Amino acid sequence: MKKYDVIIVGAGIAGMTAAIYAVRGGKEVLVLESRVEGGQIINTTSIENWPGELGISGVGLTRKIKEQAEELGAEFDYAEVKKIEKNANGWTMIGEDDEKFEASVVILAMGTEPRKLSKKQAADAGERAISYCATCDGALYKNRPVVVVGSGNTAKHETAYLKNIASKVYHIHHDDPIPKDAVAVFVAIGRVPSTNFCDGLVELDENGYIIAGEDCRTSEEGIFVSGDCRTKNLRQLVTAAADGAIAGTEAIKYLG
Ligand SMILES: Cc1cc2nc3c(=O)[nH]c(=O)nc-3n(C[C@H](O)[C@H](O)[C@H](O)COP(=O)(O)OP(=O)(O)OC[C@H]3O[C@@H](n4cnc5c(N)ncnc54)[C@H](O)[C@@H]3O)c2cc1C
Repeated sequence: MKKYDVIIVGAGIAGMTAAIYAVRGGKEVLVLESRVEGGQIINTTSIENWPGELGISGVGLTRKIKEQAEELGAEFDYAEVKKIEKNANGWTMIGEDDEKFEASVVILAMGTEPRKLSKKQAADAGERAISYCATCDGALYKNRPVVVVGSGNTAKHETAYLKNIASKVYHIHHDDPIPKDAVAVFVAIGRVPSTNFCDGLVELDENGYIIAGEDCRTSEEGIFVSGDCRTKNLRQLVTAAADGAIAGTEAIKYLG
């Protein structure tokens, strides 16, 4: 099995930026991604606050950063990391089907994922379709009744968007019963960190975010964190990229 200097878990903007920094520092770098590169921003059609690229799409930005990382020598692979174990010389990442990857240093960059429905509402929804993105899936329910669950701005935007497509859009809160006739449930009740497998590995705060300061060092030697899964005040593309730069640089320093 090839052993890497640095394995980065998650190919969002934070993880891919960390790869650029670590590989430019002369390290062998692998980025593991469970789904598609780009993470949360992938479905956004126009980004207005990424410096130097007014209106770039999430796909466009992702493609550019990934190409840059690959051109510089970073490797990418697809695997959902389920567990990380300490070994004699570093860390072993264990994926589905017991697939293993080894590195001296780990950078955790798993970001966040949509919060799921409560047990009660999930039972209520039964076999009905569940979506976390009206722009992605709304068109599937043309002239059919749907429901949006959530109380914040995202839920309001999803409701307004779906009103142009569905025959009826119910907008309910996270405790309300799901209307019987709705064929699809659009869930917009916030996000949670994708840190399930980190419990017992590094210190987490009460909401599951990995505790680290601006140096992106976790409670465990040789494990760094970058992006939205870290405790921080502002979760945005530029702060994810900034964390990636710091974590990549700290990893180089740690490896010496
Ligand atoms: C709809 C929407 C629009 C947004 N618009 C903007 C905007 O216009 N401007 C802006 O600045 N910010 C915006 N944001 C916020 C921005 O997208 C995030 O702050 C940023 O993408 C976070 O990047 P990240 O790399 O930390 O995490 P993510 O983007 O969450 O990436 C994490 C990656 O890790 C992968 N992963 C997770 N767990 C595992 C695992 N166990 N094994 C392997 N891989 C794993 C995920 O699949 C994902 O690809 C938006 C967010 C959303 C949801």
